[in-house]
Amino acid sequence: MKRGSIFVVSGPSGVGKGTVVKRLREIADGIGVSISATTRGYMREGEKDGVDYFFKTNEEFDRLIEQDAFVEYAIINNGDRYGTLRSEAERILSSGDDLLLEIDVQGYFSVKKKYPDAVGIFIAPPSMENLKKRLLGRGTETAEEVAVRMAKAEKEMAVKDSFDHIIIHRDWAEVPNALDMAANEIYDIIKEKRA
Ligand code: 5GP
Repeated sequence: MKRGSIFVVSGPSGVGKGTVVKRLREIADGIGVSISATTRGYMREGEKDGVDYFFKTNEEFDRLIEQDAFVEYAIINNGDRYGTLRSEAERILSSGDDLLLEIDVQGYFSVKKKYPDAVGIFIAPPSMENLKKRLLGRGTETAEEVAVRMAKAEKEMAVKDSFDHIIIHRDWAEVPNALDMAANEIYDIIKEKRA
């Protein structure tokens, strides 16, 4: 069976990657989204272990590293680790589906080094002020954490040209179908690669 292609969706925290990917899955066929492992110590409202992430203790994560269980992993924000599991990537690719990774910029560079054919898609906010508004509006991070994420976002925006595609997730208050627009743009990129 033909193996699928790898797509990496990245961009600053708070830009709405998760929401865009969720919408994409509703409109697109043949895409498997890898569930990452994380040591993030809390779950957001609506998140489920084994659905949104595999939540791990530091010891469990260390053991997975020892077992070479990761395609890539990175330390993000306040020391939490996030990683793409080989088992997830293999499960999806061997089914013939395309593999979609929703990971940070460091993860994208690691994946691109190992798999040069992987397609990188950067989701950018309409502006940095808008990103800050979204992070504060989400209400799951403290002001201090928002400041850390904003500083990281500046660095991430600086490398966006290393991606194969850059799309803007517009503000739905200004563009009501912003979410569909972003999801469709990604789907078009996937269809183009398939063709
Ligand atoms: P959050 O805690 O907001 O869900 O995720 C924080 C950041 O970790 C996001 O930028 C998200 O894309 C990234 N992330 C999630 N899973 C992975 C992964 O497996 N590897 C890497 N490198 N980043 C990840």
